[in-house]
Amino acid sequence: TANNIQGTISFKDVRFSYIKGEEILKGISFNVEKGQTVAIVGATGAGKSTIINLINRFYEIDSGEISIDNIPVQDYKIASLRQKVAVVLQDVFLFSDSILNNITLNNENISLEEVKIAAKQIGIHDFIMSLPNNYHYNVKERGGMLSSGQRQLIAFLRAYVSKPSILILDEATSSVDAHSEQMIQYATDEITKNRTSIVIAHRLATIKKADMIIVMDKGRIVEKGNHTEL
Ligand code: ATP
Ligand code: MG
Repeated sequence: TANNIQGTISFKDVRFSYIKGEEILKGISFNVEKGQTVAIVGATGAGKSTIINLINRFYEIDSGEISIDNIPVQDYKIASLRQKVAVVLQDVFLFSDSILNNITLNNENISLEEVKIAAKQIGIHDFIMSLPNNYHYNVKERGGMLSSGQRQLIAFLRAYVSKPSILILDEATSSVDAHSEQMIQYATDEITKNRTSIVIAHRLATIKKADMIIVMDKGRIVEKGNHTEL
């Protein structure tokens, strides 16, 4: 079951189309070992986000196999799969509710104290404390005062407190201010540390730190290697 997830990911000749006859992924194969961070890079429309849509089964593949710990993703219950694989998307959605509830998703087993410790670990506690009402600040207050970078930081913390075996991060392309950028970089390092991670990377710093870089073009992997090899 998903409780046994150790955090390996394997794609074997995965083919996928959103619309019949228009193949978007044309035979994708790669492995991510436990604890490794893999960066996926490539032009817009190459199929990077599509890859991550398939891991948590937002769509079903046409052929091939995607496995987590050598078990095909179809063999997991969707809920337990998604509990173990946390995804931070490019455009973060926050509910009109407190920062705390946006982080815990109203899971009462996660205490405020625990959230604070996690926020300190990923370097965003001071930012939250600078907001009115701190962790009780309603994110939609004053017409949504949080920037896209700040919303992404909240989503990082949401993913982090859920203690996923696998983290998937689709880095935002929109530019953020220097301070948010620094916080995002630090949080990304902390959240991917010792955790199997796939990052669709736009930041050079993220790409440089990855154990493996996958270069995609038009639905295919065209290169694999680390930063010094490519
Ligand atoms: P970007 O760097 O812009 O985020 P990407 O590499 O993540 O690009 P994808 O979002 O995976 O690219 O899209 C790959 C292809 O699939 C594109 O041609 C896109 O138009 C198409 N596509 C994506 N989502 C859908 C969908 N829901 N329905 C139909 N086609 C889609
Ligand atoms: Mg994308």
